[in-house]
Amino acid sequence: MSDKNVIPYKIYLEESEMPESWYNVRADMKNKPAPLLNPGTREPMTAEELSGVFCEELVAQELDNEHPYIAIPQEIRDFYKMYRPSPLVRAYCLEERLQTPAKIYYKFEGNNTSGSHKLNSAIAQAYYAKKQGLKGVTTETGAGQWGTALSMACSYFELDCKVYMVKVSYEQKPFRREVMRTYGASVTPSPSMTTEIGKKILAEHPGTTGSLGCAISEAVEVAVTNPGYRYVLGSVLNQVLLHQSVIGLETKAALDKYNIKPDLIIGCAGGGSNLGGLIAPFVGEKLRGEADYQIIAVEPASCPSFTRGTYAYDFCDTGMICPLAKMYTLGSSYIPAPNHAGGLRYHGMSPVLSQLYDDGLMEARSVRQTDVFEAAEQFARVEGILPAPESSHAIRVAIDEALKCKETGEEKTIVFGLTGTGYFDLVAYEKFHNGEMENYIPTDEEIAESIAKLPKMD
Ligand SMILES: *Cc1c(COP(=O)(O)O)cnc(C)c1O
Repeated sequence: MSDKNVIPYKIYLEESEMPESWYNVRADMKNKPAPLLNPGTREPMTAEELSGVFCEELVAQELDNEHPYIAIPQEIRDFYKMYRPSPLVRAYCLEERLQTPAKIYYKFEGNNTSGSHKLNSAIAQAYYAKKQGLKGVTTETGAGQWGTALSMACSYFELDCKVYMVKVSYEQKPFRREVMRTYGASVTPSPSMTTEIGKKILAEHPGTTGSLGCAISEAVEVAVTNPGYRYVLGSVLNQVLLHQSVIGLETKAALDKYNIKPDLIIGCAGGGSNLGGLIAPFVGEKLRGEADYQIIAVEPASCPSFTRGTYAYDFCDTGMICPLAKMYTLGSSYIPAPNHAGGLRYHGMSPVLSQLYDDGLMEARSVRQTDVFEAAEQFARVEGILPAPESSHAIRVAIDEALKCKETGEEKTIVFGLTGTGYFDLVAYEKFHNGEMENYIPTDEEIAESIAKLPKMD
């Protein structure tokens, strides 16, 4: 009997089957992720120090290496119900097109206006800010997905939202900007004259089009100098991976319904939040010795933190004002070449995933941009969804693995994270179609140069 008679194209969960708690994988890790360090004293950041910048409950979640389950407040679960559970789709059409014996599933997180998984954490962070009685939050956005998700979450909880958007994206992605303004956020191109650091950068580099690191510095400055404001971040941090575990918990619940056990789990990795969330419950089983899975993180060849980076303490921002995090990094002075998967252009990687990778619990692969868009197009043409360039990194490796199965005849079950849609990335698709897309790959010397500037630890 064909699988089609047994397993539907889309596996949905009932509302009542949605997770009631997030899963904190750190509780099951023998080697805990290294703590954030104060950039001045090089001592672990205390809750008190962190709470000057972040909301109190989020600080508690950031530092919690102990509790495996943290209840999702009812208000957040209610919001989740508007766009979750997200479907787990069996890619029957892709399998057929590839003529592979592999069974391919993807968890689709693009079914909300932000077009990505980022809303899962944005709504949680906005909730805790509101609960603390804050007036608003500040953040930076590069490609714009995080800023969009956060403005949606803030408008829901009636919080003010100040977004510092890298100037080049502000100018090149006017539609993203308008979505944020529709949700009531103020969007400022960074660097700007509204902050001391912005003025300083503009004085030193007149006409600069900005960077993520600079936008972070501006957003943090505004948060710490305005009473009633805190700074929020859309990836990398432990708390963000915790919120994103809703992806993995739903995936596991859907697979369990049909007794499906994945062999291979694949996700794209920028700062690591979607992948960390998707794999969390599976890694938990691995850590507890209950099951085994092959896990692959996929990153762009132009920004290869895992595959060519160094595991060391580094600054999280180029302005060097944020805490130090121990992570796989290319160095905070590494400036990734223009790359159309904007959400994957971060020099470092989540400390949780960095530790899991260092312990051999997961693998990583880097892929070239044109190969990614080829996979994106192949996927779009049979599965109907126009994928985000970021997500398409995972599609690339899922297809590669399915083609390997075709050669060996193995019937592997592959699950990958389809993090979002690519409607705001059509300039990138246009470049690909016109044959104008470049595959920039840094030289060893370039990487060594920024690694040499890592903070000296003694
Ligand atoms: C931001 C983003 C990513 C990468 O971020 P992670 O924190 O690594 O998950 C991936 N896909 C989409 C669609 C994004 O918006």
